[in-house]
Amino acid sequence: MAFKYKQKCVRCRKNYVTVTWKNRFPICYGCQQKEMQGEVKDPKMQKLFNIPEEFFKGNAFLRSIKINYLKYDTLTDKQIETFKKAVAKMKKDLREKAKGNGKKEIEIKEEN
Ligand SMILES: [Zn+2]
Repeated sequence: MAFKYKQKCVRCRKNYVTVTWKNRFPICYGCQQKEMQGEVKDPKMQKLFNIPEEFFKGNAFLRSIKINYLKYDTLTDKQIETFKKAVAKMKKDLREKAKGNGKKEIEIKEEN
């Protein structure tokens, strides 16, 4: 597992951002929100970025990929692949969390 820690946003120096060692200049969601507002025209990319806003809030890497795309209008296969993997992992974590919190409700749902 990647080593994660919290560091202050380099822009506002107010909010903390969860980062890995790869991210030396973390910027918080609030500071990056504007940069993420651009229009995504490519349907493939629309699909890629069609994830809950919470994911962008909680993951500086996902934000940086979207901003990169809006800036340069393109992503490498590796960036797309890593983005998908990170999203899949966050979805899995959410599911596991849901299981721990409301086990009974999920079991009822599954019976139907
Ligand atoms: Zn900030």
